[in-house]
Amino acid sequence: MSTQRDYYEILGVARDASGTEIKKSYRKLAMQYHPDRNPGDEEAEAKFKEVSEAYSVLSDPEKRETYDRFGHAGLRGAGVDPGFASADEIFSQFSDLFGDLFGFGGGGGGRGRRRSGPRLRRGADQEYTLELDFLEAVHGCQKEITVARYATCDACAGSGAEPGSQPETCGTCGGAGQVVQGHGFLRIRTACPHCGGRGQVIVHPCKACEGHGRTRVTDSLSVSVPAGVDNGLQLRLAGRGDAGDPGAPPGDLYVHIRVRPHEFFRRKGADIMVEVPISYPQACLGGVIKVPTVDGEEELELPRATPSGKVFTLPGKGVPHLGRRGGRGDHHVQVVVDVPKTLSEEEEELIRKLAELQDAKVAHKGFWRDILGRFST
Ligand SMILES: [Zn+2]
Ligand SMILES: [Zn+2]
Repeated sequence: MSTQRDYYEILGVARDASGTEIKKSYRKLAMQYHPDRNPGDEEAEAKFKEVSEAYSVLSDPEKRETYDRFGHAGLRGAGVDPGFASADEIFSQFSDLFGDLFGFGGGGGGRGRRRSGPRLRRGADQEYTLELDFLEAVHGCQKEITVARYATCDACAGSGAEPGSQPETCGTCGGAGQVVQGHGFLRIRTACPHCGGRGQVIVHPCKACEGHGRTRVTDSLSVSVPAGVDNGLQLRLAGRGDAGDPGAPPGDLYVHIRVRPHEFFRRKGADIMVEVPISYPQACLGGVIKVPTVDGEEELELPRATPSGKVFTLPGKGVPHLGRRGGRGDHHVQVVVDVPKTLSEEEEELIRKLAELQDAKVAHKGFWRDILGRFST
C-alpha cells in the first residue's frame, strides 16, 4: 500500500530540511492534489496519498530518524505502516493541520464535508511497557510481545449487523448523526442520542460481537527495537491500537522502553562509563590491561605513573546514536587503584620494605591485635 519512493524527493525538500520547511512543502502539495480540488481524478488522489505518507513520516522525528537510517524497510521493521488507505484517513490523522490549511477548522478542527455527516471515531491508542536488558537497548533487538486490543469483527466487518442484514438509517436523526435541540434562537447541535452519532442503528446485531462491531483479540507482534534506545523512549506502532469505527483508522500502539541497569556499565546518553580496578604496581609501572566494553573486552595501555581515578576514553566504542547522525558515543574507563583486603606473607614483606624505603610511617605488625587486646581487658 505504501510507496517505495524517497520521501524527501516526494516532498521536494533537502535531507536536512527543518520541520517548518517540510510542513510548508506538504501544505503546498496537499493543496495542489487535494481531492476537493480534483474531483474524480485518481492520479491526483494517489499523489495526495503519497505526499501525505511522506509527510506522516518526515513530520514525526522518531519515524524520520528510523527512515533516515534504515529506509522503508526500517519503518516496516519497526511496525510502522505509513501508507493511507483513503483520503478520509488522511483528514482524520492530520485534522489539526487540515483545519489550519484549508480553513475548515472553525473550532471543530475537522473537515467541512465530514462535520455534516455522522462522526467516525478513530480507534483508541494502546500502551505497552517493554523491559530490556542494558545490552539489548545498546545493540537493538527483536522482541516478541503480546497485546490485547479490540479488532474489527471479522463476521460483520465492523458494522455490528448480523451478516446478511444491514444497519438501518436512524429514524431520530435521519442518518445525520446529529440533532438540533433548543427553542428560538438558542439552538444547539448535539450527537443523536438514539444512534450515538453514527447515523445508523443495528436491528439484527451480529452474534460474534453482539453488535459492537469489534472483538477482543490478542496480537503477537515482533517489535524491532533500534540500537541505542534508552529509558523513557517510546516507539509508535501505527495502526496497532484498537480498531475504529468502520472506515475510520485504528489507534496506535505506544511501546514504552524501560532499561534494566547493568551490573557495572553506567550510561549517559550515548556514552558508557565503567570503573576498572588496577593494582598499585600497574599504576606505577604501566602495562596493558583488559577492560570490558559493550562489544566485549578491549585492551587498554596504561602509561607509567597512572593516578587512581584517571579516565581513559575509547572513542566510538559507546552506544550507537539513535537517529540519522549515525556513529557511536564514547566508552570511558576510570581506573581505580585496588587495595587488597588480605596480603600474603610475601606481599606484606615487600610492602613493608617499600614503606621503609619511602620512610613512610606504617602500623607495625600486629598493631591492630594489640589495640583490640587492650580494649578487651
Ligand atoms: Zn460482528
Ligand atoms: Zn440517530
